[in-house]
Amino acid sequence: MVHVVGIPFDKKSSFLKGAARAPAAIREVLLDGSSSLLSESGHHMIDDIGMVIQEDLKVDTYQDIFDELQKLDLQQTHIFIGGDHSISYPTVQAVSKTKGAFDILHFDAHTDLYDIYEDDPYSHACPFARIMEEGTVQRLVQVGIRTMNPHQLAQVEKFGVEVINMQQISEAMTLTFKRPLYISIDVDVFDPAHAPGVSHYEPGGMTPRQVISILQQISTPIVGGDIVELNPVRDTNGMTAHLSAKLLKELASAIHRGKGRLYMNI
Ligand code: MN
Ligand code: MN
Repeated sequence: MVHVVGIPFDKKSSFLKGAARAPAAIREVLLDGSSSLLSESGHHMIDDIGMVIQEDLKVDTYQDIFDELQKLDLQQTHIFIGGDHSISYPTVQAVSKTKGAFDILHFDAHTDLYDIYEDDPYSHACPFARIMEEGTVQRLVQVGIRTMNPHQLAQVEKFGVEVINMQQISEAMTLTFKRPLYISIDVDVFDPAHAPGVSHYEPGGMTPRQVISILQQISTPIVGGDIVELNPVRDTNGMTAHLSAKLLKELASAIHRGKGRLYMNI
């Protein structure tokens, strides 16, 4: 079973607002009948995976996200739909309180490791600095990075982050993980040609197939994940909303497969 929860919050976005509208946009295209509810592995979101689409969290302030997450049954596996990337600090913290230690696979054009950004330590440019300071995540692997400055490089070294930047990405790459994983997908990891509905354009990004292939290779249990930074205000014909819905299906399918492996290992 996989629970899907929207977090319609974009007050930590530094450049453009709009990501708060993403949960509704993704649900709309997921359920409008334009594509099936099957993943490429053949798992049906409702019949096989038991996907439960919950109501959005009621969030006005950043603190509301922490408070609202406490009302969820976090023993269940959740996919959180942002919202800007600032939501990942509260979601990772909440999941780690119930599920213990895990590693993070993070897709993004940006490291989001700023110690502080525009006077705000909780900006959407900072969540992975806050997460790594908590000490519960041993391994943070960032894929698709193409915006590294000296401060971020210092943060990468300080926290021991593994960065796979765009120049290192090959068509068929394999990533190996041993511990349970939380997967965070910032849709600006994609080339803007595939994902025009984001606030920060960084050309030269990943293709949907590259990200989906990595998701399909994961063989460890997945404790949760998020899909963030879709900005429907900037989208073209719902392209990025459809891509986000596709990722939601593939991520749910990866969670489902990982659970099977977990049970088989017992
Ligand atoms: Mn991000
Ligand atoms: Mn980004």
